[in-house]
Amino acid sequence: MDRNSRKIVIAIDGHSSCGKSTFAKAIAARLGYIFIDTGAMYRSVTLYALENGGIVGGIVDEDAIVALLDQIDITFRFNPARGASDIYVNGEYVEGKIRTIEVSNFVSAVSSIAAVRTKLVAMQQQLGRQRGVVMDGRDIGTVVFPDAELKIFMTADAKVRAERRFAELKAKGDDVCFEEILENVIARDKADSNRAISPLRKADDAIVLDNSFMTVEQQMEWFDAQLDRVLSL
Ligand code: C5P
Repeated sequence: MDRNSRKIVIAIDGHSSCGKSTFAKAIAARLGYIFIDTGAMYRSVTLYALENGGIVGGIVDEDAIVALLDQIDITFRFNPARGASDIYVNGEYVEGKIRTIEVSNFVSAVSSIAAVRTKLVAMQQQLGRQRGVVMDGRDIGTVVFPDAELKIFMTADAKVRAERRFAELKAKGDDVCFEEILENVIARDKADSNRAISPLRKADDAIVLDNSFMTVEQQMEWFDAQLDRVLSL
């Protein structure tokens, strides 16, 4: 079947820092689909909580965060230079502030709050309602779009993932420590996989992509074969 004749939902879930967003963005560009980075949404809520009294002295105050939720308006605006949408909170561009180690250290706790997930999942379902979307996260194939036509579960060796995140943050000029990043990657996998609501798990019908030793080009070749298989069904 012709790739353009049917728009589908592509759900990409998996472990932290294994390049899900890079992969999802490349696929979306190839197919002319919308790309939604749902991790950026959970990070934005975490940033807002840090800046507005929802997390004080390292303590995550669930009730305070739930009370803040109605004030948080998340929007996306396509940025042609990046080939992806930038995320805004109440009209403020936050793309540059949500990927710090501080936000990374609190995001798993914030994303385990039921009311946070209810709000963001509803928004994600709305964004993908016309299909033609590539969405990456932790619960896309299991909860947000259980009917996604193509589900991919991405993983890679934890050390390889930490090295990639370390290089990315260093390149941005952040003063980061490799051990702290490795600890964060391992801690987030554990927290995301063990939380009570919508834990990270591979959907039964998802296909696994371990990209520890794969280039982006090799991943794209792998993807093309998977897409052809799904479209020929
Ligand atoms: O994808 P990224 O690493 O930016 O996601 C940050 C965090 O947001 C994850 O560690 C997870 O706690 C949370 N998240 C989630 N559900 C999603 C996407 C992200 O719980 N769909």
